[in-house]
Amino acid sequence: MQKIKVRAHAKINLYLDVVGKREDGYHNLETVFHSVELHDDVIIRKQAAKGIIVSCEHPGVPRDSRNLAYRAANLLSNSVGGIGGLVIEIHKRIPVAAGLAGGSANAAAVLHGVNELFGLGFTQETLMQFGAQLGADVPFCLHGGAALGLGIGDQLTPLPVLPDVPLLLLNPGIEISTGTVFKKLNFSLTTREKRSIIIKACLEKGDVIGIGKNLYNLLEVPVFSQYPEIAVLKTELSTQTGSCGALMSGSGATVFAVMHNSEAARRSESHFINRVNFCTTTVTSPVGVHVY
Ligand code: ATP
Repeated sequence: MQKIKVRAHAKINLYLDVVGKREDGYHNLETVFHSVELHDDVIIRKQAAKGIIVSCEHPGVPRDSRNLAYRAANLLSNSVGGIGGLVIEIHKRIPVAAGLAGGSANAAAVLHGVNELFGLGFTQETLMQFGAQLGADVPFCLHGGAALGLGIGDQLTPLPVLPDVPLLLLNPGIEISTGTVFKKLNFSLTTREKRSIIIKACLEKGDVIGIGKNLYNLLEVPVFSQYPEIAVLKTELSTQTGSCGALMSGSGATVFAVMHNSEAARRSESHFINRVNFCTTTVTSPVGVHVY
């Protein structure tokens, strides 16, 4: 095998609470992740010359060692004493710095793809440990489906997957740095809303309406205070006909709505399409990475 093609799926957070500050400066989270069908294509090819080459047409994505996909390949290569040369082609569909874990998904696709392409034989668990060294969302992107994330989001417990639930994703084109959002966060342990239990129960029952009603993300507080236009978009999304509820994903700026059906999702898409930078209908996905 000379090349492998891997779909790298985006994620949304149906629930995100910050439960404490750690000594290393990071925060402990309680979050419910779900993979979505929206994905980047990552094509990995062996090449004779040593080294890792990343190609990506998106201007916001670095092509050097800052690229998470590059770092994933480098990490695996170093762990086995070198694997020779490879080229990683990234075709972006997931908006960049948008709270959808695009970079993490690319890294997960490379960990999975390189392991297969070079027959390295690492288990899923070991790949997830490598992933945690690259970024908090990488283990979930490898795991895929639905999961509860504790710690920095890397301690995962599988949850029941919602099958093919229609979603509408909007991004106003504001790139947000996750680190900056956490710095601005002034969280109080006493005001926490423990809605994760409800979200988990809704996932177990496949209760899409219940999920829509109980979506929660504490990071909306610092993000909406800096960018009120994102709050306006979210309100508009949640009041669309056929919307079960709306939320900002991760540290933003993408907001999504859980929709009753795909017709309603498409109707709302046509309402927003000319007003935002990125607007797409998608569905929940049972996988995070997928060889095609
Ligand atoms: P998260 O929710 O995990 O914080 P995000 O979806 O908000 O991630 P990304 O799309 O992963 O954000 O991009 C964050 C930053 O990472 C960007 O500013 C970009 O320059 C850098 N980056 C590095 N590698 C990649 C990659 N393969 N794809 C996209 N961005 C990348």
